[in-house]
Amino acid sequence: MYNSKAFSAASATSPLAATTIARRDPTDTDVCIEILFCGICHSDLHQVRNEWSGVMPTVYPCVPGHEIVGRVTSTGSAVTKFKVGDLAGVGCLVDSDGTCPECKAGFEQFCPNMTLTYNFPDKHTGGVTYGGYSDSIVVDERFVLKVPANLDLAGAAPLLCAGITTYSPMHHWGVTKGKKVGIVGLGGLGHMGVKFAHALGAHTVLFTTSPNKVEDALRLGADEVVLSRDANQMAQHAGSFDFILDAVSADHDINGLLGLLRHDGNLCLVGAPEKPFPVSAFNLIFGRRSLSGSPIGGLAETQEMLDFCGQHNITADVEVIAMQQVNEAYERLVKADVKYRFSIDMASLKSA
Ligand SMILES: [Zn+2]
Ligand SMILES: [Zn+2]
Repeated sequence: MYNSKAFSAASATSPLAATTIARRDPTDTDVCIEILFCGICHSDLHQVRNEWSGVMPTVYPCVPGHEIVGRVTSTGSAVTKFKVGDLAGVGCLVDSDGTCPECKAGFEQFCPNMTLTYNFPDKHTGGVTYGGYSDSIVVDERFVLKVPANLDLAGAAPLLCAGITTYSPMHHWGVTKGKKVGIVGLGGLGHMGVKFAHALGAHTVLFTTSPNKVEDALRLGADEVVLSRDANQMAQHAGSFDFILDAVSADHDINGLLGLLRHDGNLCLVGAPEKPFPVSAFNLIFGRRSLSGSPIGGLAETQEMLDFCGQHNITADVEVIAMQQVNEAYERLVKADVKYRFSIDMASLKSA
């Protein structure tokens, strides 16, 4: 084991603070990465504050972070994909069994034996996994992604969660040129959704409740913006969408959105409101519409997404912060006061 600098939370009510954690000694198939940037995902905040205690109780100290971009500092003897000095990315997964039907099909995100990047039982250390709010990480090469060199690294970090979370369902549901696609909500996920839908060539419509987001949505690539509380604007789009990506995690009217789908259209949830939705069966039956949800993506698809971003020069719009500003950033995240993702410059950890 070796020591790594990190920021961790000691309890659900403690602020994140500087600490030292033990990382495993690399195995033959491991890649050691110096972390350069780590995005702040809303999941980090939920986990640190133990807000998902029912499904994933937090083990303290907790080191969050699963939007990791860095540089390879050493490789195990059996590593073939990476060499020292390469750019590398790590997302929400750091391991899986590699043998189940899901893994064999490239759907590691559905593996019953996957290992999440933080707050998950760590097979190597016997403790829990520690995430990217740290100066280094050791990951099996199977779970390390190649980051295109032309991308701004601070903005590339959020691609590892926010990026793949929005790209994967669009890929799966066939978003392409000639399709009409709606994105609901312009936050960390939604702004990536707009960028991807636009780059994939779809007619992209952003739904928001905030008139002050209209201009930004158009700048990010939306062809149209609909104020979802305006019944007239909504009615003009009834029955016209092939696909809608719903990135809102607050309670909202799902039936109003389902009614905007054309026949065989799909509404996919990537936001997770706490309260169950009251879904009208008629909204699904008439038009044979479907309602779905989607988590991150598999490794091959995540690489495909990063390569697509390299080709189209797509990164998240980020506000770069020092590690020492993370607690303040969390308070702003609760108020949705960020355009559109915080990215931690890990160089700041050197002076922590
Ligand atoms: Zn995330
Ligand atoms: Zn598996």
